[in-house]
Amino acid sequence: MKTELLRVENITKHFSLGRGKGVVRAVDDVSFTMHHGETIGVVGESGCGKSTLARVILRLITATSGKVWLDGVDLAGLTPKSLRIRRQQMQMIFQDAYASLDSRQKIGRIIAEPLVVHGIGNKADRRRRVNELLEMVGLERDAASRYPHEFSGGQRQRIGIARAIALEPDLVIADEPVSALDVSIQSQVLNLLVRLREKLSLSYIFISHDLAVVEHLCTRIIVMYLGQIVETTDTDRLFQHPSHPYTKALLSAIPRPDVNRRGQARTILKGDIPNPENPPAGCRFHTRCPSVMPICKTTIPTRINLNGLDAPHLVSCHLYP
Ligand code: SF4
Repeated sequence: MKTELLRVENITKHFSLGRGKGVVRAVDDVSFTMHHGETIGVVGESGCGKSTLARVILRLITATSGKVWLDGVDLAGLTPKSLRIRRQQMQMIFQDAYASLDSRQKIGRIIAEPLVVHGIGNKADRRRRVNELLEMVGLERDAASRYPHEFSGGQRQRIGIARAIALEPDLVIADEPVSALDVSIQSQVLNLLVRLREKLSLSYIFISHDLAVVEHLCTRIIVMYLGQIVETTDTDRLFQHPSHPYTKALLSAIPRPDVNRRGQARTILKGDIPNPENPPAGCRFHTRCPSVMPICKTTIPTRINLNGLDAPHLVSCHLYP
């Protein structure tokens, strides 16, 4: 039986805009659990709170309320020293690999940095480990003595991945890791992430604005809108039975012949995602929803399970009373 790796319980993160100026409700009451070996996709438009959620999970920022448990340990209850040790288990891959790599440092030093910070090995050990990591991500050994600007976008993302796996983490959170890359390079990096998952028994939280990118990588998908989870279920089920109107709109935006064959009309969402300082009352999606009803404007929908307890399909929408 798979054991629980991560439990996210009622996480809320509000950013204050200054005294009397209100708050940005970036994440509101988000809960989910994941098991060792799982890959979960967190999907939604930019501004839906998915990157903030990732940073709260990693304790890069502190939650306004709620708890994060890693392997049964409440991260908020840890001393700074214990948290630093726990952090080895969780690493992040960023969208902008170039910005996340120190341009003045050679690649060998960048990849070895987590080992230095955590006091792992001596200089020779770390050099060996850097070589091993470069090989794992498909780069030549001589990359270690070069600088970030000498590499292409895809290669820089490989360097970011090598640094993220240096400490043999259990959980890697990848925040839009391929969205800045050309399509042909995207699939190479995604394939690398899949290979590393098998080889190192990694679990991923894969954040993306694009459902097509997460489809082949993730076992389960969480769809977020304006800081809240609106739908979550297994990937296959989500693609076969999308239920929340927002999920349907995201899916219909994917240009796929099989989607068209099922006769699903393309849904174009009108307008931008509303300002998270002042989210709409009732269902937060009501200002853009093609199925909006009067109740949606006043009453927050409760979360309903559309499937069995073994494979829940949770959706928050008044279409499912
Ligand atoms: Fe649309 Fe209403 Fe469902 Fe919200 S609750 S997604 S507005 S139908």
